[in-house]
Amino acid sequence: MSAVRLVLATRNDHKAREFGDLLAPHEVVALPDEVVLPPEDGDTFEANALGKARAAAQATGQVVIADDSGIEAEALGGRPGVRSARFAGEDATDEENLAKLLREAPAGSAVAYVCAIAHVDPGTGEEHVFEARCTGTLAAQPRGDGGFGYDPAFVPDDDPTDRTMAELDPDEKAAISHRGRAARELLAWLAMR
Ligand code: IMP
Repeated sequence: MSAVRLVLATRNDHKAREFGDLLAPHEVVALPDEVVLPPEDGDTFEANALGKARAAAQATGQVVIADDSGIEAEALGGRPGVRSARFAGEDATDEENLAKLLREAPAGSAVAYVCAIAHVDPGTGEEHVFEARCTGTLAAQPRGDGGFGYDPAFVPDDDPTDRTMAELDPDEKAAISHRGRAARELLAWLAMR
């Protein structure tokens, strides 16, 4: 498989690090600072990922990937979903969003992380989206200092040890996470081309 160069349309440093590791040996490069990304105001993860990838591909003329991700809480009818980054308000911090989720959804209730990765090639006009989920339950208290966002409260079903995502090391998280799974779908597709 020959390695390709992919511009990653994100301003989130944690995601950039995770994607760099997940997509090796492909080269994941940062989006130039001057490129303006559209607001994430779609109703689906797919629509938001495609919106960012299209805008960045048009602005750079290069092959771009963009992701949109979030957490769905069963007790809240799937909220916050596509509004996960702004759950506690427009400029909410990760800590504020997490605290709101723990106030509103009971410990032990079902949650799922969802990740959609859009791949847009401005040369051919081809667009592909890879979407994956990771299910779990909500911890009673935040635990661990790895990962980001809702990780300290997310106990993944696929880890038998009852640790939160923030207590897993990056490789353990990547093996089961929504982003890891969607990235491996993208990798498999790139390998077939
Ligand atoms: P966006 O994809 O940049 O819109 O951000 C989605 C939001 O969902 C993040 O700000 C986090 O709050 C949350 N999120 C997405 N993926 C993860 C993850 O792997 N761990 C923890 N929180 C996540």
